[in-house]
Amino acid sequence: MTKLPVKITVLVDYEAAEGLETEHGFAAWVEVGDHNILFDTGQTGAMQANTARLGIKLNQAEALVLSHGHFDHTGTLPDFLAENEAAQVYLAHGAHIDRYSCKPGTPVRSIGMPEKSRQALARIPAERLHELKAPHYLLPGVGITGPVPRITSFEDVGGPFFLDPDNREDDSIKDDQSMWFETDEGLVILLGCCHAGLVNTLEYIRKISGIRKLRGIIGGMHLVNANQQRLDQTFDEMKNWQPEFLVPCHCTGQNAAEQMQQAIGCGIVKTGYAGMVINAGRMS
Ligand SMILES: [Zn+2]
Ligand SMILES: [Zn+2]
Repeated sequence: MTKLPVKITVLVDYEAAEGLETEHGFAAWVEVGDHNILFDTGQTGAMQANTARLGIKLNQAEALVLSHGHFDHTGTLPDFLAENEAAQVYLAHGAHIDRYSCKPGTPVRSIGMPEKSRQALARIPAERLHELKAPHYLLPGVGITGPVPRITSFEDVGGPFFLDPDNREDDSIKDDQSMWFETDEGLVILLGCCHAGLVNTLEYIRKISGIRKLRGIIGGMHLVNANQQRLDQTFDEMKNWQPEFLVPCHCTGQNAAEQMQQAIGCGIVKTGYAGMVINAGRMS
């Protein structure tokens, strides 16, 4: 049997290769052999500009996976759906609820999926829309976690997130989900924001897949608001994982990414940027 290469291209991030646009948001293009998957859509259009420059055709995606219902991951969903009328769309249950953030001293912000994205989702034929409540294999060895159980004591959602504008009810961002790839070299994990927590997410994927070895992690690790204790505990876990590569993107936070590099090693930790290509391994 031929081995399928797994190639992941970062499409949207704070940083970008020359000639590509930056944005507060995240999106990645995944190729598994000749299967193409879009993971998140960014916020305002960097994805469209960057895919055009990279020669990536969004209408060739057979699936769109949304990591969670925040505006910076779902903003250009209508544009994608206008361009691609065949892709299966996967999101976790609850991704389109109203949600807010309120940092001390700043006005409350609505940060859920934009209205136009919700309307676009509502127009997708039911047979193309998949609201996950449990893990799902998209292809053999290519999985989507669905909602991730929270087991660690030191990981939280990573910010002042609420379900109402009066900040009465915390938003546990239950719909946060990630993807994994069972390569011959171990698990490769692709994160949107990872509000579920890195350790929670990896342990869940290990349980579902039955594979312990981690090859690498790419994506938003949402450590931007993490206190030093959480950072230290996360880095201690990371050392035990012995990954070949870690690619912090998006909401990982510069301080966390720099400390990660010091703790784990600059040969392993490489900060992501739009245009970065990760040849993530091969799948039997
Ligand atoms: Zn984000
Ligand atoms: Zn988020």
